[in-house]
Amino acid sequence: MSRFKVAIIGAGPAGYFAAQALNNLADQDRSFDIDMFERLPTPWGLVRSGVAPDHPKIKTVSKVFEKIATGENFRLFANVEIGKDLSVDQLQERYDAVIVATGSSLGKTLGIPGENIRGSLSAASFVPWYNAHPDFADVDVPLDSQTAVVIGGGNVAMDVARILALEPSELDPTDTADHAIDAFKKSGIRKVYIAIRRGAEFAAFTSPELRDLPKLEHTNVIIDENEIAAAIARVGDSAEKDVKSNLDAMLFIAQNQKTEHERTIEFLFSHTPKEIQGSSHVEGVVFSTPTGDKTIKSGLVVTAIGYNALDIPGIPFENGKVVNVDGRVKGNMYVVGWAKRGPSGVIGTNKSDATSVIELLGKDLSAPKNKDDISDLLKGKTVVTQKDWEAINAAEIAAGEPLSKPRRKGLSWNELMAHAEIYHF
Ligand code: NAP
Repeated sequence: MSRFKVAIIGAGPAGYFAAQALNNLADQDRSFDIDMFERLPTPWGLVRSGVAPDHPKIKTVSKVFEKIATGENFRLFANVEIGKDLSVDQLQERYDAVIVATGSSLGKTLGIPGENIRGSLSAASFVPWYNAHPDFADVDVPLDSQTAVVIGGGNVAMDVARILALEPSELDPTDTADHAIDAFKKSGIRKVYIAIRRGAEFAAFTSPELRDLPKLEHTNVIIDENEIAAAIARVGDSAEKDVKSNLDAMLFIAQNQKTEHERTIEFLFSHTPKEIQGSSHVEGVVFSTPTGDKTIKSGLVVTAIGYNALDIPGIPFENGKVVNVDGRVKGNMYVVGWAKRGPSGVIGTNKSDATSVIELLGKDLSAPKNKDDISDLLKGKTVVTQKDWEAINAAEIAAGEPLSKPRRKGLSWNELMAHAEIYHF
């Protein structure tokens, strides 16, 4: 029996699905000891700090992650930053294979004037702020104007718009960060525009998310029926299934508009952002539209136009992704998930993606290197192990219980670390 040692960098969905694929590859001839490294004190990546808190069902995949994590062949090394606490070279030296699963955390920018004015922020800051990511607790989110503009036509833009336009008490029974719920309760925002630069047939939303919108109990959702009819005419009968399903969902919204609520989300198509106006704070956004320039007065602009991967020393990056061929990077390094293919697909997409990369990895491996354990390189470092994380998890769930929340998340590194029974190497 050959026992291979594999390091996975990043404890998000792509990392766990890579671990699962390794477990599936194990047979009577070979097994895999998996060490997962995570910069934060908590695992689960976007399932914890990306998925919208009003969509708790999507987070149930964390049960799959925890099953993998309690395997005897699995160790979690959270609060360990690769590139700082350990080098990529050290991992490549001590493991038979290193799998990069670090996702894409940097929000793409528009490159238009005014993008740096107060009140203009990326979904890459706003989303982790309301999801209690400990690095984003202090993000400045001005919510005092009446109107917000969300730029982008994907599911992240939709999440952002929905969270801004929900009746905030709907977030009480969720794991939204306390600071965000407090801020939303004081928010003046009543109108949220989603500005999409192309026609409805090109929108990147997925139809289950669109079909959820009419279920909002305290928010009007407005889509111009003429826009959707025009898009349906443009695509004709040859529309792909997903496009057709999206247009059907949007047509349903357009034909069943509610207007009685105080809060409204409105979709704007063919609106290309040109300039963000304001000096000390955002005052409006100028769009170029088919009928000429149009300015929307607004004090908050959230850009949700995709992400790039964050560079890590020792890993080759290009165009916001890790340089790779089918997941092979260099030497014994592999990449999975958004860091490999860019920020696309739903959580489950990472499962098939990881499976195909791990199949290649399985073919590449010959004999184990039998190198030293990583622990001696972490001497003096405070590592959050699986046991520590379970203590954090239990403490958060217990704190949420009296409030009828699935959990009350720790808001800072200190609070999270205080919950853990930290193991010092
Ligand atoms: P996305 O789906 O790729 O959408 C990005 C949007 O930004 C597109 O509409 C794109 O328009 C627009 N855009 C790009 N550059 C722009 C620019 N310079 N100006 C104006 N608009 C611009 O990305 P995402 O919303 O960040 O989502 C990432 C992935 O996560 C997606 O696969 C998404 O489905 C998934 N996700 C899923 C869920 C869920 O299942 N509930 C929730 C959140 C995210 P063009 O098409 O014109 O380029």
